[in-house]
Amino acid sequence: MKDKCDTCNYRYDRELGYFLGAKYISYGLAVLQGVITFFILHFSFPSLSTFFEILMVILVMTILGRKNYKLSRVLYIHIFPW
Ligand SMILES: [Zn+2]
Repeated sequence: MKDKCDTCNYRYDRELGYFLGAKYISYGLAVLQGVITFFILHFSFPSLSTFFEILMVILVMTILGRKNYKLSRVLYIHIFPW
């Protein structure tokens, strides 16, 4: 992660442990994405087995987890900008 914004020089690295709270946002995003994936699969493909649905949910959560890492920090810095 960069220390400062290239455009406006905004300092991202505020203090030690500043982004600790972002993990709760990341967790919330992961749960939301997992639930949405499950419902889409469950109602779009009723013949799928529950095991396969859970497998797909885990796969989607793993793939989106890397995006959630940065997205949760962006959301966190906007919630607590000071
Ligand atoms: Zn900027």
